[in-house]
Amino acid sequence: MRYAETGYILEVDLSKGNIERVETDPRLTELHLGGQGTADRILYDRCCEADPFSPDNLLIFSAGLLIGTPVPGTNRTVVNTFSPQTGLHAHSMFGGYFGPELKHAGYDKIVIRGKAPSLVYLWINNDKVEIRDAAHLKGKGAQETARLIKEELRDPRVQVAAIGLAGENKVFVSSIEHSNSSASRGVGPVMGDKMLKAIAVRGTKDIYVARPEELWNLCLKHSKDIYNNPKVGDWMAVEWDDSFHHNNFAWGNARVRIKDYWSPELQDRWMNYTLSIRDRLQGCYNCPKHCHLVVKPPGKPRYILKCYGKDTWHQAAFKEIDFTFDILATTQEYGLDNYSTPQLIAFTIELYDNGILTDKDLPGFPSDTGERFYYLIEKIVRREGIGDVLADGVYAAARAIGNGAEVYDHNTMKKFEQLPLKLGMINYHYFLMYATGEKMNITQIEGSYPQDAIRDLEKRKEFVDNWLAAPRRFKEYYLRWEPRQEATIDESCNIVDWNEAMHYVDDAIGLCAFVSSFRGQFGGKSAYHIFNIPTYINLATGMDLTPDDLWQISRRNRNLVRAINVRRGMRRVDEAPPADHWKKRNPEKEQETLSAYYRFKGWTQDGIPTKPTLDKLDLGFIAEDFIKMGILTGEETECYRETSVNDPAGE
Ligand code: SF4
Repeated sequence: MRYAETGYILEVDLSKGNIERVETDPRLTELHLGGQGTADRILYDRCCEADPFSPDNLLIFSAGLLIGTPVPGTNRTVVNTFSPQTGLHAHSMFGGYFGPELKHAGYDKIVIRGKAPSLVYLWINNDKVEIRDAAHLKGKGAQETARLIKEELRDPRVQVAAIGLAGENKVFVSSIEHSNSSASRGVGPVMGDKMLKAIAVRGTKDIYVARPEELWNLCLKHSKDIYNNPKVGDWMAVEWDDSFHHNNFAWGNARVRIKDYWSPELQDRWMNYTLSIRDRLQGCYNCPKHCHLVVKPPGKPRYILKCYGKDTWHQAAFKEIDFTFDILATTQEYGLDNYSTPQLIAFTIELYDNGILTDKDLPGFPSDTGERFYYLIEKIVRREGIGDVLADGVYAAARAIGNGAEVYDHNTMKKFEQLPLKLGMINYHYFLMYATGEKMNITQIEGSYPQDAIRDLEKRKEFVDNWLAAPRRFKEYYLRWEPRQEATIDESCNIVDWNEAMHYVDDAIGLCAFVSSFRGQFGGKSAYHIFNIPTYINLATGMDLTPDDLWQISRRNRNLVRAINVRRGMRRVDEAPPADHWKKRNPEKEQETLSAYYRFKGWTQDGIPTKPTLDKLDLGFIAEDFIKMGILTGEETECYRETSVNDPAGE
């Protein structure tokens, strides 16, 4: 009996029209847990060097290991492939209801290869799986597609993940949309390239857990605790005071900060507007929080607003919040990413304002920034004129346009658009997180450790006393962190290693970061952390993991992603945060910190996991591959630093 997981994946070859239900090896679950962990093992084994738009590239939808069990807040479907924008591993995910439905249909994953000869959708109804013609859905919006498929299948309980026009046209900043959530960072254009408009799933099977009664009782209590815990969930839907983002984040093409933007009058105006269009609040599967706003702006269809998408559009356009609510109704139907697309458009406007793009490139370009956004969206989603160049993202567009456009590409990292955040003094643990992170977007990378020190020592002590998620040494680091002082290099290495560990755990078990890794930095009683997650995994699966075992699995999964990207050409030279993320930089110390981190991780000075590191993580086959390929000599002796959750802080 397999517990928590179904033990099966659905293999779909769109070129051949072949569909197979394949049993998985339980040993892989022990090594990688599930979700992204096991998906990356498939990517490594089967298509590690595939061109993103080749039929050999896989598009994998994974329901995390604990999805479908009673563990509250586990509902993330991870989508992995290779991104045409970065050429690297694409890490993306969405919440909602799709993953749980997939598990109940009897599958832990859908592995899609090949390309359909014409537009299709996949219909998974428990054991009955069909590739269906989607010609009638061509050009339809993502939510409209979901609605039409549900009507066609005569079942409103069907869960749908779909692309809009942007994905169909392989726009690099396109997303896969599902209910109140979406996956971006390269997965939308690959789905479009495979001519797969949507996946619809309905499942009615049982999922077994190892110790049902104990798990149920624990989860019942935990669910109530999460509901009552103000420290968890995504506050964007219900917090009216959004001064932090508006006073601290940058506007336009990530250059302008308006430090005193927020005011009580503005807060009232925005709250009243939001309430006037708010329909209700909504949550994801098996989560007591309700983080998503269902809104109906005037003259627009009803839709569900996600997370920080609430601010990205109007800040990029120097507008007010009604602009965001209005434009989102359009862009979510087109299936455009709410983080990268506003940055791409703000970058284009800067090129025009500085004479690098002209009226010849943008005929009839409006003068109002809001109208410019709508104008450019239409060009980009259709890849029309200059839109064809822009649709490949800021990095590629800057180089294709030339004539000095590269200077305006100042907020990408590993060729991917980042959140418009510009700060003063460099903070070395955040430098390391961003430089070495492979989740593409800084919002996906940070989370476990606070960004700032607390000035008042008594308040700092109080924070640390209540900081449930932190192992002992991080509490001690934080206690001695004075404002405007830097963490030591060794502390920075430890902090980043722990931060990564928590993200890779979440992505393997399907846990929402808003109840776990991302919330660690705010202190208090995080719902999930390194100390209690093993209990939930053990009760659900019958495993016997300790916190240190969990950390080791996470270390294995993290090195697996690194190995994939190394095979795809990523090296030290690529490991840098956005050029002007901090005003005050120290290149020498940054490189010293990076070198120390590579040693800490057991990587070469080019960021490549060594043979001793890979062998110790049961990834010896990768070391053998690397030696055969000439990536390693096999003589490298560095191995990762053994750490434990119980380690003290040291000097
Ligand atoms: S905390 Fe919010 S975003 Fe996360 S699973 Fe719950 S409802 Fe969804």
